[in-house]
Order: sequence, then C-alpha cells, then structure tokens
Amino acid sequence: MPVTSKFVALKNYIPTGLPKETDFEIKTKEISLDTKNNILVLNLWISVDPYMRARMTERKNYKPPFNIGEEMEGYALGIVKESKDKNFKEGDIVFSNFGMRDYFVCNSNDLKKIEPMNIPIQTYLGPLGMTGHTAYIGLFKHGELKPGQTILVSSAGGSVGSTVCQIAKNMGCKVIASTGSDEKVKWLKNDLKIDHAFNYKKIENLVLHLKEVCPEGFDLYFDNVGGDFLESAIFQMKNFGRIVICGRISQMNATNPGSGLKNMAHVLVKRLTIKGFIIFDHEDDREQFETDMAKWLLEDKIKFKETVYEGIENTPKSFIDLLEGKNIGKMLVKI
Ligand code: NDP
Repeated sequence: MPVTSKFVALKNYIPTGLPKETDFEIKTKEISLDTKNNILVLNLWISVDPYMRARMTERKNYKPPFNIGEEMEGYALGIVKESKDKNFKEGDIVFSNFGMRDYFVCNSNDLKKIEPMNIPIQTYLGPLGMTGHTAYIGLFKHGELKPGQTILVSSAGGSVGSTVCQIAKNMGCKVIASTGSDEKVKWLKNDLKIDHAFNYKKIENLVLHLKEVCPEGFDLYFDNVGGDFLESAIFQMKNFGRIVICGRISQMNATNPGSGLKNMAHVLVKRLTIKGFIIFDHEDDREQFETDMAKWLLEDKIKFKETVYEGIENTPKSFIDLLEGKNIGKMLVKI
C-alpha cells in the first residue's frame, strides 16, 4: 500500500460515429485502503458491452454519461488481494461494477462474492451474467416464447444472441439466426445446431431471404440490431407475433437518425406486439435465472464462447472491435 491502479478513461464524448482508440486514454493513480474503502481487489476479467457506447455521449439515457478523464465503469470479476472486512478474505472471487481498470478499493456493499462452480469464472460475465440474464428475460418475460414456436434472432453470434438461440433450441423451437461473418454462421450451424444461420452482410434482399428460409413466418423476433433489419423482419411476422426490442446496435454509431419504420401497417394488420426492455429493471428476477442457467451450463445445454483480449491497454480496441463485430460470443478483456 499504496497500489498503482491502471484504468481506462474517456478523453472526450463521441456524439456519433465509431469510436477511435484516440478517444480513450490509459491513466494511473495511487489508491490505498481507508476506513470507508477497506477491500483491495485486482480485476481478472473485464466485460466489454455495447451499452457502454451510449454512455460515451452526453445524451440522456438509462445510465448517465461516463465522466471525462475518470475511470469508466463496467462489470468485472476480480480477486480480493487484501481485506479489512470480516466477510471478505484474500483470494475471494468477486463481481463488481468497477471494470475498465486493474486494481480498485471499495467496501463490501459494492461486491458480490462468487461461489466456485465447475465452470470458468468468466461465465459470470457471459451466460451466467448480464448478457445471459438479458437473453432469459427477453425470451420468457417479454417474448413469451413457447415450445415449438419459430424465432428470428439478430446479432446471433454475439453474447446475448447466441444464448437466446440456444435456450430457444433447447425448448424445441425453430431458430433462424442472423450474424455478420461466415465464421459465426459456421459456429451457429455446426456447434449450436441452429436450424438456419446466415451472414446478413451477404444478403441482397433481406425481406425475400427471410420469406425463403421461413415461409410460415416468425412467432417472435428477438431484435438486437434495430434499423432496416427490424423493418425487414416485420414483413415476415405471423399474426399476433411478438417483437422484443433488446438492442439497436446498427444505429449506435449512426451519423444520422435514419428514416424510421415504413411498414407500421403490418404491425396493425398482423396485431403485433413490439416491446422494449432494459435488463437493469429485472434484478428481482435474477435468482430463478441463475438457478436455471447454472443447471443448463453444467449439463452442457448452453455452450459459452468468448473472444478474449489481453491487458487493460487493449480494452479500447476490444470495445471498438466489438462494435465492428470482431467478437464471437462474449467480448472480454483478461487482466
Ligand atoms: P454482441 O456480443 O452481440 O456484440 C455486438 C455485435 O453487434 C457485434 O459482434 C456485431 O455482430 C453486431 N453488430 C455491430 N454492428 C452491427 C450492425 N450495423 N448491424 C447488425 N449487427 C451489428 O453484444 P451483446 O450480446 O452484449 O449485446 C447484443 C445486443 O443486446 C446489443 O444491441 C446490446 O446493446 C443489447 N443489450 C441490451 C440489453 C438490454 O437490457 N436491453 C442488455 C444487454 C445487451 P455481427 O458480426 O453480427 O455484425
């Protein structure tokens, strides 16, 4: 004590467009235990998530903008290095919102202890963490998916999408999956046994493609991308179908707001339900999710794939690459 903490800070807000590495800086500061912050943690794994993009603008959102020049936040898993709190001891594995840095000090209210299970700990940042919870709540609570139904999933090669696909498959549903690379298509088809997966970047007419691969239409569209894809999916929904708006990544870096949905008549005529949700509203539903997901992971019914960048210095690059689709499964940084 004191210890030098290395962290990622935003240098300036990024109102539109894809972030650049020069929008970020790696900084250091000296930290030490005190009476309020009496636990020292070294992060082992840092979660890199699309929602962080919204916090890089000054626009009003469900979370406030990051503070310029200060530590960015995000989910992380770390190991306790020193503790003056009787409930935590050296070597405990802990979950926190103090990501985007290596060392930090905090108190017990800021930490959740992770009980070791026979699965890699970083799973707590993927299927057993926020992205898995999002898939679960989106499918069951908002999507009301039933066994045997047909579902379309976008960004299906990512963390939320691949979990959605697998849960739906395990329920005996027919799953149509869209993703942005042939490698991800191969993984979805060969390893996850998804009924039909395609690379949307190679499809000339998405409306026709969806009609061709699923003439009967979709009961549920799990939308991770928004924009034109959402409009195309609406054409192929069944009567009384449901669309769960989980994300809008195709719009996140857009330099103009786009023209909006032009086929709302289909929403009316087909009596569709379109519902958005934010996972941070669903903390009360976490216990059942964790019980079910841990069981599925231990039974190998849900497979976890991760893309790992090494070292805090590579965190900005990992974030930009996530937005550019270079991840398969969960994007993580290993410290
Ligand atoms: P992913 O692992 O899916 O990574 C993001 C992916 O988005 C990229 O890999 C890329 O894959 C895809 N993408 C990037 N640009 C575009 C584009 N223009 N059009 C289509 N796809 C694009 O991230 P997550 O699993 O963490 O998140 C998935 C979605 O869920 C995001 O939209 C996120 O914001 C949302 N989310 C929502 C939550 C909520 O509470 N509602 C909580 C957590 C996540 P590809 O190769 O397919 O292009």
